Amino acid sequence: MNSSCLLGFTADELRSLVTNLGEKPFRAKQLQEWIWKHRATDFEQMTNLPPALRSRLAEQYTLRPLQVVEVSESSKGATRKFLSRMQDGHLVESVIIPAAVGRGGAHSDRITLCVSSQVGCAFGCKFCASGLLGLTRNLTTAEIVGQIVAAEEISGERVDNLVFMGMGEPLANMDNLLPALTLIMDQQALNIGARHITISTSGNVPGLKRLAAFGKPLRLAVSLHGAEDEVRSRVMPVNRKWPLRELIPALKEWNKTGKHKITLEYILIQDVNAMLPEASKLAKIAHELNAKVNLIPYNTVEGLPWVRPSEADCRTFCSILINKGIPVTMRYEKGHDINAACGQLRLRREGQNKQKQD
Ligand code: SAH
Ligand code: SF4
Repeated sequence: MNSSCLLGFTADELRSLVTNLGEKPFRAKQLQEWIWKHRATDFEQMTNLPPALRSRLAEQYTLRPLQVVEVSESSKGATRKFLSRMQDGHLVESVIIPAAVGRGGAHSDRITLCVSSQVGCAFGCKFCASGLLGLTRNLTTAEIVGQIVAAEEISGERVDNLVFMGMGEPLANMDNLLPALTLIMDQQALNIGARHITISTSGNVPGLKRLAAFGKPLRLAVSLHGAEDEVRSRVMPVNRKWPLRELIPALKEWNKTGKHKITLEYILIQDVNAMLPEASKLAKIAHELNAKVNLIPYNTVEGLPWVRPSEADCRTFCSILINKGIPVTMRYEKGHDINAACGQLRLRREGQNKQKQD
């Protein structure tokens, strides 16, 4: 589904749009500047375009695909979630992460944004709030890109780091993800470098191949959450479709062209995958893939049975990986990790709505 919002039009698409309207090609450049450089929100602002063209554009197109309906309270240095309503009424959530949290760095006026790629998710991972309600629909290119524009408008800061760790499986929405990435990287549009973009996937093998063929030095995070099929299939039904024996070779293929180490995301869930022998199995996979590991102590989701292990157990698990020479990160405190902030979108709100109706 392609929306008529111009935020979703790549430079090539803007050129064809302008030519199809019978206008000279230089109008495309002007339009692009209004959209991206000046961030116009109304066609009437585009004063160097002929009035007739402005009204024709205004009849057929929009400049914002999302209406921000709620921004969480801001406290200094904390992550902020915002909720946007799309034209069909569905809601999408995104998370603004200040630089100090996002990369452990010094003060910066730039931010990391965690974006959603779908409303809900079809993959149904058993620990994940986004997967619980199934897939409603893919986000359009404009709706993906629109989250970044909205975050910059809310914060007054530039997004310079992007993680696709919000709602949805980005590699199950390739037709809209790839043009969105083109716009995100375009110097005349959002101008975020590929090395500042992380795509997180639950292990969608055909999607990985297509993303590799796209040929950009993007960062890849893989939600592993199980170092053997039995454990992984228990919490991630996607593993039955693309088990580790297919996923690992696909990641090795990625490594042949990928410019950065893959990050293996591993949520620690008590009595499921946080037992110590699992740490050695995880280390073996990380070693085989020359990957980093990000351990995420499970963030409780209401209504789900899973339990976060004790801090001591998480630290022991972590030290096994460190002792085996694997680069590993872990943050125990709730809400401080990018995944912890991003991995649980939507259900909270849907739950609230449900309670109100009951
Ligand atoms: N579909 C993609 C991207 C979105 S999920 C993927 O699965 O990778 C973003 C990350 O949040 C994933 O690593 C996911 O496993 C994690 N996540 C989901 N639920 C979580 C929870 N309750 N606690 C901590 N992380 C969670
Ligand atoms: Fe979907 Fe990722 Fe959640 Fe799994 S973890 S249900 S793939 S959003």
